[in-house]
Amino acid sequence: STIPSVTLNNGVRIPQLGFGVWQVPDAEAATAVRTAIEAGYRSIDTAAIYENEAGTGQAIAAAGVPREELFITTKLWNSGTRDWSGLQGQDAVLHAFDESLAKLGLDYIDLYLIHWPRPMHGTFLNIWKAFEKLYAEGRVKAVGVSNFGPQQLDALRQESSIVPVLNQVELHPHFPQHELREYHAAHGIATEAWSPLGQGKELLTEPELVKIAEKHGRTVAQVVLRWHLQSGIIAIPKSVTPSRIRENIDVLGFELDAEDLSAIAGVATGKRLGPDPQEFD
Ligand code: NAD
Repeated sequence: STIPSVTLNNGVRIPQLGFGVWQVPDAEAATAVRTAIEAGYRSIDTAAIYENEAGTGQAIAAAGVPREELFITTKLWNSGTRDWSGLQGQDAVLHAFDESLAKLGLDYIDLYLIHWPRPMHGTFLNIWKAFEKLYAEGRVKAVGVSNFGPQQLDALRQESSIVPVLNQVELHPHFPQHELREYHAAHGIATEAWSPLGQGKELLTEPELVKIAEKHGRTVAQVVLRWHLQSGIIAIPKSVTPSRIRENIDVLGFELDAEDLSAIAGVATGKRLGPDPQEFD
């Protein structure tokens, strides 16, 4: 059975379940990504700042899966003091993209994301112009953003010609992002969840979720990933443990019912694990 996909606003399809590699050291990334591809994942989520694009690329090259069957996402890092304004800023974006492409050993990327909006710098619109150029040149099949709020998404919709295909944000049953998801749906932007398992912390021992897992003979991680899929969310769980890598993609053989879904809605705390994107620099 295959992982369902979501059709993005430019017609490109992304698998609804992918493999995230944040905090995987470069030397371990090749093995972890190889294990994931063998387990059936076709979408991989990395970023320049994760410093494992090279290891990820090695796994892609060694896997023997046709390039067009894979969906590779990477992200432009904030790069602290670098000035992203003006034409020089756009050149810096193109340069960073070339570096990511070279490390991955690819000739195109499926999805390129602005990692954080950094609204206090007022440069994301200029960065987006360079993203539009990469898209026009076919060097990326789709462009999107991460950690953007409605204010920044409004600015992109009003001031540029390409609407981001998706926004990758912190999202899990403790922090379900209802308002942002409604905004996305109203504007043709798909929702992608980072830390979909709540980073493997308290979420996975929530008594209500444990009950649901027992009822289905599944693990809590599987119940949570099933919730993402049934909610129309794209999820990119991370693990370096082969058995968990396989467990996290083995979520097609059961279905949560209305009672399960309302119990899961009940565990929301509204608390983030990560930083507030409007403040993060
Ligand atoms: P996650 O929610 O995927 O949790 C991963 C952790 O959960 C693992 O390290 C492990 O400790 C545990 N785990 C995984 N599978 C398990 C299982 N089956 N049973 C029990 N425990 C399990 O957290 P994450 O890595 O923060 O997020 C996933 C991906 O999202 C990242 O790897 C990265 O690709 C992306 N991400 C993006 C941003 C961003 O700013 N755009 C931020 C954070 C993460």
